[in-house]
Amino acid sequence: MASPVRMETEILQLRTRHPFIIARGGQSDYRTVMVRLVDGDGLEGWGEAAPARIYGESTETVLAALTNYAEHLPADPLHIEDTERQWEKLLRLNPAARCALSAALHDLAGKRLGIPVHRLWGLDPARAPRSTFTIGIDTVEKLRQKVGEASEYPILKIKLGTDRDVEILRTIRELTDKELRVDANTGWNTRQAIRMLPVLEEFGVTVLEQPLPADDLDGLAQVTRASRIPVIADESCLVAADIPRLVGKVDGINIKLAKCGSLREAIRMIAVARAHHLMVMVGCMIESSIAITAAAHFTPLVDIVDLDGAALLANDPFTGATIAGGQVRLPTGPGLGLSRR
Ligand code: MG
Repeated sequence: MASPVRMETEILQLRTRHPFIIARGGQSDYRTVMVRLVDGDGLEGWGEAAPARIYGESTETVLAALTNYAEHLPADPLHIEDTERQWEKLLRLNPAARCALSAALHDLAGKRLGIPVHRLWGLDPARAPRSTFTIGIDTVEKLRQKVGEASEYPILKIKLGTDRDVEILRTIRELTDKELRVDANTGWNTRQAIRMLPVLEEFGVTVLEQPLPADDLDGLAQVTRASRIPVIADESCLVAADIPRLVGKVDGINIKLAKCGSLREAIRMIAVARAHHLMVMVGCMIESSIAITAAAHFTPLVDIVDLDGAALLANDPFTGATIAGGQVRLPTGPGLGLSRR
């Protein structure tokens, strides 16, 4: 079996159709890092790192971390567990950089075996829930335009955490009777969140993501107790080890590869969450179809899917999993099943 002999990186310049604004701010231009692991037979595994400043990463830290990790490529691409553990020990944190390598290794392993990654895990792609499409924070005029542009998506995720959240919700609800989910991205305090609950109910919101700051677990517990709408922890839950302390304080957790650092850690998070009877969501960053597809392969295991990162782009360089019409469609090709446009 030919070993992955080298790693190559490439910076991807991504641009969203609209500036993507959440409670912490926003932008239109994103730089992610594509990783290619090439083996002696010329097979390639692909992955992508979308660094998030909130988790201490930038394009530069990703490139530096990858240089370190690349000194420990496995002789056999199927030695995924040991390799991921070795990377984590070598240089902790840096989850976006590590998840790019993890995705590339899974892609290569699937290609070696000639099967898609979801088949490696024994999953039925027909079980993937529908994905939301996100409407970022914007003016009333722009919100109307975005809801129009999102006509093909059956479930919308609305970004809140502003001083005009009620206006945002009302504007969108006046235009559509679609299912609405909201994400405050840590933008509220406990009092504000509890005051918003009847408003969210009035507008028929079905999921409330991360109302409070990441470390305010007691506040989250209060909001969850007061809420008939399920509360999901995103910024409060990065890896599997974060889950036990969230039990009884939220209704579910949001997994992102760029937070948890590997596909195997994502699967562990699902197992731990299920053991505690928590709902499981998978989310994403603004990233191309490489990273979206890596996460899409485990969507048959989750309840809530929010994988619109590539659908929000004006210039996605790749094709892979899609969410057209909201339906998650997994590629059938070996590995991640990606190709360049
Ligand atoms: Mg979120």
